[in-house]
Amino acid sequence: EQILGESMHDFKHVAWEDIAGLESAKSTFLEAIIMPLRRPDLFTGVRSPPRGVLLFGPPGTGKTLIARSIASQAKAKFFSINPSSLTSKWVGEAEKLVKTLFAVAAAHQPAIIFIDEVDSLLSKRSGNENESTLRLKNEFLIHLDGAASNEEVRLLVIGATNRPQELDEAVRRRFVRRLYVPLPTKEARQKIIEKILRQVKHSLDATEINELAELTDGYSGADVDSLCRYASMAPLRLLTPDQMEVIETHQLPAVTIIDFKQALRDI
Ligand code: ATP
Repeated sequence: EQILGESMHDFKHVAWEDIAGLESAKSTFLEAIIMPLRRPDLFTGVRSPPRGVLLFGPPGTGKTLIARSIASQAKAKFFSINPSSLTSKWVGEAEKLVKTLFAVAAAHQPAIIFIDEVDSLLSKRSGNENESTLRLKNEFLIHLDGAASNEEVRLLVIGATNRPQELDEAVRRRFVRRLYVPLPTKEARQKIIEKILRQVKHSLDATEINELAELTDGYSGADVDSLCRYASMAPLRLLTPDQMEVIETHQLPAVTIIDFKQALRDI
């Protein structure tokens, strides 16, 4: 329940259009992952799909978003695990959880198991590796191989990492398909800004939005997202607590380019 809880109860639907940019990643996934999960009968033998996918790239670039969206598109159950919930377990507990995770996922096919920061769980660092992390790693490999060797199983494991070079070599080999998720382009940043601005009253015109996309060169999607959220708070920051008690939503002033310029300085 601890590791599967979120996945079982609060499935968050992510549409393909919610992901700005990353066009080639999306088309790769549609062909290689999503259609095989939806129509397994078409993808057998030499056409059988990869069972392990590694997403790597800078933090905050949408790796989790992609994994969730793949699950939505493939109509698959999404199981997300947090390595820290595994590594802090008593000796032997973590392996049992991994075993349970794969068993529950197999019982809910088609299913996707998403492991964020997979490097911290399955790293190659052997110097300080104790017996329990080795056993945990082996448990994973057994299940990854099990899923890969059985065509009937509609189970996909997606790992995400900012440090692919830290990953255990044997584990990396299991992630047959590896995809780099880069920082967003100017166009993608613009899309993210536009999407967030749709949710608030603002006075920005196309030129100003374009300028913001330009100014956020080097920002990740998550950075752009928090910049917009910060700027969107500006009208509220002007209010005293008493004013905030009584003001109606439609009376709030619009968010302006000046708020964004301030946010760029503050963040
Ligand atoms: P980490 O490596 O830190 O786990 P990540 O690559 O998994 O990060 P996400 O958690 O998917 O990144 O992205 C964080 C947030 O940033 C998302 O919830 C979303 O709001 C925004 N974001 C990032 N990339 C994009 C994108 N390409 N399109 C739209 N929103 C994005």
